[in-house]
Amino acid sequence: MRAVFLDRDGVILRDVGPTARQEDLVLLPRAALAIRRLNDSGYLVVVVSNQTVVARGLASEPDVVQAHQDLAQLLHAASGAIVNRFYFCPHHPNATLPVYRVACNCRKPRSGLFERAARELGIDLTDSFAIGDRPSDIAAGARVGCRTILVETGQHQAPPIEGAGPWATVQPAHTCPDLQAAVDLILGQRHGDAP
Ligand SMILES: [Mg+2]
Ligand SMILES: [Zn+2]
Repeated sequence: MRAVFLDRDGVILRDVGPTARQEDLVLLPRAALAIRRLNDSGYLVVVVSNQTVVARGLASEPDVVQAHQDLAQLLHAASGAIVNRFYFCPHHPNATLPVYRVACNCRKPRSGLFERAARELGIDLTDSFAIGDRPSDIAAGARVGCRTILVETGQHQAPPIEGAGPWATVQPAHTCPDLQAAVDLILGQRHGDAP
């Protein structure tokens, strides 16, 4: 299977900072339609996100799972769009809650969530795309061989999280104004020339 990995905040949803409240879930324009087009094209759609809201003790893991169910409903109501699987990292090296205070392998820019998805869903990572609004999204996707697309609907101008590791200078293969434009690019490549 091939997949398109999507970051959540700043890609599908407006980035309003760490939150799991239903009223903070606001779809970006055209995001639902973009996901629907991926559904129709045969790509799996997998959301991979860092949820520091859990590490900070502002929401529980079940709260995040509920937020993802709410998001799934919004997407479906808007365009009949489907996310095939949601994955998130609840950890942070400086977490408020000790149980989450670990240097995990799943917090982007690390690639643990991508690898887990590949294992569980049978995804060929080198035939897949990673779309995000931060350098850490791009680095995580590039690390596992995905083609990467930076979108300009979120924190694309913010400094890299967790300082400037060597990963912070990884350049996206493409930059697009939003998710819909990124999907145009993906679907165009599929039928056209090599990237
Ligand atoms: Mg983001
Ligand atoms: Zn983690």
